[in-house]
Amino acid sequence: MEYPEQPGLSIKRPVITPKAVIHQKFGSSANYRIEEVKEDVENGCPGLTIPQQAKILYRCHLDLPGLSVTSEPFSRKKDAEQSAARIAVEKLHIQPSTSDSTPEEASKELVERISGFFTDGFLSSSHPLIGHFGVALKANREHFGMIPISAIASCDVKVNNLCKIIICKAESDPLLVSSLIFNAARKSSELCTADDGLWIWKKVPYSPETIASVNSCDSDSLGFTKIQSLHIPCSIEENVEPLTLDVSDDNYYLDLIAQKLNVRDSSQILVSRTVGKASSELKLYFPLPHVPYCEASSYLYRRTRGNVELMLNQRASYLSGQYIYGNAILANIGYSWKTTSLYHENVSICSYYRMLLAKVPDGYYKLSREAILVSELPTEYTGRSNWRGPTPKDLLSAFCHQHRLLEPVFSVTSNDTESSVSHTLVTSSPLSSTEVIDKIGGDRLDVGHRNLDNSDIFRCKVKILSRKMQLILEGSFADTNRKESDVIHSSALRVLLWFDKYFKQLDIPVETLSSFGSAHGITVSVENVRKEFSLYLSTLGLKQNYCLENSSLESFCKNHPDRKLENGMVMLSIDGLESGIFPLHGSLICIGCAVALVKIGDPEKYYLESKDEFEFEVGTGAVIYQIEACVTQLSVNQTAQFVTDIPSRDVILVAAGETAKHLLEMPLHNCLLEYTLKVLRVAEPLEDRMEQAFFNPSLSKQRVMFAVKHINESSAATLVDFGCGSGSLLDSLLDHATSLEKIVGVDISRKGLTRAAKIIHQKLSQISGMSSIKHAVLYYGSITVPDSHVFGFDIGTCLEVIEHMDEDQASLFGNIALGTFCPRILIVSTPNYEYNPILQRSAAPTMEEKTTPCKFRNHDHRFEWTREQFEHWAIDLSARHNYHVEFSGVGGLADVEPGFASQIAVFRRNSNLCLPAEEKPKMEEDLPRPYELIWEWSNS
Ligand code: SAH
Ligand code: MG
Repeated sequence: MEYPEQPGLSIKRPVITPKAVIHQKFGSSANYRIEEVKEDVENGCPGLTIPQQAKILYRCHLDLPGLSVTSEPFSRKKDAEQSAARIAVEKLHIQPSTSDSTPEEASKELVERISGFFTDGFLSSSHPLIGHFGVALKANREHFGMIPISAIASCDVKVNNLCKIIICKAESDPLLVSSLIFNAARKSSELCTADDGLWIWKKVPYSPETIASVNSCDSDSLGFTKIQSLHIPCSIEENVEPLTLDVSDDNYYLDLIAQKLNVRDSSQILVSRTVGKASSELKLYFPLPHVPYCEASSYLYRRTRGNVELMLNQRASYLSGQYIYGNAILANIGYSWKTTSLYHENVSICSYYRMLLAKVPDGYYKLSREAILVSELPTEYTGRSNWRGPTPKDLLSAFCHQHRLLEPVFSVTSNDTESSVSHTLVTSSPLSSTEVIDKIGGDRLDVGHRNLDNSDIFRCKVKILSRKMQLILEGSFADTNRKESDVIHSSALRVLLWFDKYFKQLDIPVETLSSFGSAHGITVSVENVRKEFSLYLSTLGLKQNYCLENSSLESFCKNHPDRKLENGMVMLSIDGLESGIFPLHGSLICIGCAVALVKIGDPEKYYLESKDEFEFEVGTGAVIYQIEACVTQLSVNQTAQFVTDIPSRDVILVAAGETAKHLLEMPLHNCLLEYTLKVLRVAEPLEDRMEQAFFNPSLSKQRVMFAVKHINESSAATLVDFGCGSGSLLDSLLDHATSLEKIVGVDISRKGLTRAAKIIHQKLSQISGMSSIKHAVLYYGSITVPDSHVFGFDIGTCLEVIEHMDEDQASLFGNIALGTFCPRILIVSTPNYEYNPILQRSAAPTMEEKTTPCKFRNHDHRFEWTREQFEHWAIDLSARHNYHVEFSGVGGLADVEPGFASQIAVFRRNSNLCLPAEEKPKMEEDLPRPYELIWEWSNS
């Protein structure tokens, strides 16, 4: 198993990533640059003649003071960065400084660290604090030589880390950080502190040379610059508003912020840690609360916590995950390493609302789908091909990152003991009859737990740990018959959904919290959950304050008695002719959608969001339920319009983007959201999904078993797979012991063939020596065209292909296969149309009558035949070409209506005489060879 051993809870020391080590040592002076490199095509699949698209890889350059290193190329940027950091750590022989030191040691170290800032030597370094010294040591400065504590707190990572060791609550409390710095300064014999503000300065004056040199550094002029920041009032009733800071070269930004916060000077403000991206200087500034700060000790600190004068700024606290008091300013400004000029960037209102949304479990999904008012975090993961947006695993790790939790740990186990049958010969039908009956009638979820041959049962454990390695929750989920990566994604999704539920009712009572987890296969450490999310609890009021009490939708209905409120919406219109192509449960649908804010009785509309194309899987909750309810009433090309109640103001503002300004002031009562949507197309396979839900092993696995049985019964040495697609059959055959020596695939999809080549190449390289296969070839070409490369094989397979051709082409293929290719045995499978009602009835339980049972299983199918139609086709062919045919199938039973789910014809050649004499080419050159060689492998 490729998943690393999970760090057990017994391991005290968290494994620190190289990047974290570099960060500890260098802070923001570590500069990572990502470079794109194209992967050498040579590294792809040897022997493949199709030009392959070069894969984009990333290389990372890491520049540190005095060292630059470059990583190898990686397919993920993250990995490249970690690799570069690892190289640097090795070169510099850095030991990660862990929280090994005790609080007492850290206290001592903090005093040293702070004193160190106030030395002549420090002033010639490139630390960001130098920028602040440059200001403090200006000749005309009122507080000459005095540094505000917020400058230290905002510039030095080490100081913050030491504070966390001294009292771990410092992590979430800037007031505590400042108190600790202040106390440390007071302990230093070289430093002075003020009585009426958070100032620190040096007892002995600096030498004039030092002052001159610091001043000369500060020569870069910014000119006159205005930067956009945000004012986040403490009172939830007041709006967040833009605020301009004039940072001309004479203005010290901390002074400006102090002025805007209505406090005396920069010694009266506190600063949060970086909010959002670590590379920015985005921080919250707020006034020092009225507490006896100068005596602040952890003891005093705790006493003041209960003080009613401390007014928690809920929005700012929610945003930063720290306790922020009073009115706050969010600004992206500060000094950084090596440069003496001030870094600054504008902060827009919209970016603020986006940051808020990114914090909630489903927010990141909505943001990355760029459809805030349309999308929802899906409640189900049915496989990679149906999922749109970032994978559940990435979503969960983004969530953990947002909440300063460790990366989720996954571990997957499978009961390999049972799947060992895959290498033995299967002689009997892979599925016993009772199983099938049970499955069709029984509980679908239960299917996987039956003891069936060759089904892989995976168990995935997910652990979410806090920074301090405390277990927040643990999930354990069983899953069957899917890929390992699918199992991980679906487990990640379940954990994320649990958080989503929790976030939507953070105040649920303790008892409910744990039973609410166990109902989802999740064990919650109630105490630790509370601890980690307590801040969110305290800011809970925020969301609700935004909600409007009365439903505008109801008053809308009162004015329009002809309109019905159903499914949380009022349908206004459905336009366009029914095309007959309906989205079903499980199908992928693509819609175009526009959402506008409307006020009842006002003709004006504010367009908030529009998507030309939005694709999602029907029935997985990937969109708001109103859209789901609407599209299932529509067919392709129809348009509908409906109205819903509005969501919270935040969500509206995120959706509106940069145009949100005029909405800020707008009262939202009597407002509705008006959705206009069109079903553009219904895409791709229901087929796999249905098969997966109904059959275990899946029908495709059963088809492989079926083929294996015939191969071995006939001791076939050569096999050609007509319409091999991406090689699923050929690949699976390699997992079984067979008599085969040569395998060939033919298809008209270059994409499929490229994938097939890679997969088969890899498998053959793995098993070489153990396998009987000596030769494998893939051809590009149509199976309705003769090519002598595939004449006279022992066995031919054509699984689930003919229904992808027009009926006349299917007949043409039959004639050429039996008349020209002449394999000894030909196995052809195709869906049994009569079986569809069973699949579709249960796959779309909510659809009821709407689902007329005449849908094909896959929209790429040109036809689906009944048993009679298929038998007619096959018997006619066999009679014409001197073959005899037997009918069989997989999924279901021959003599129970409506027969097999996938019907199979097995043609056997009657005599060795195959090619009709007149067609037999005389000369080697006369042989038709239109196929193009795509890939070839031989073991000689
Ligand atoms: N046999 C595979 C793929 C089935 S999908 C499996 O069981 O997984 C149908 C495949 O038939 C597609 O890969 C399609 O490209 C191929 N196909 C359709 N018409 C074809 C033709 N005329 N010649 C060759 N391949 C064809
Ligand atoms: Mg098909």
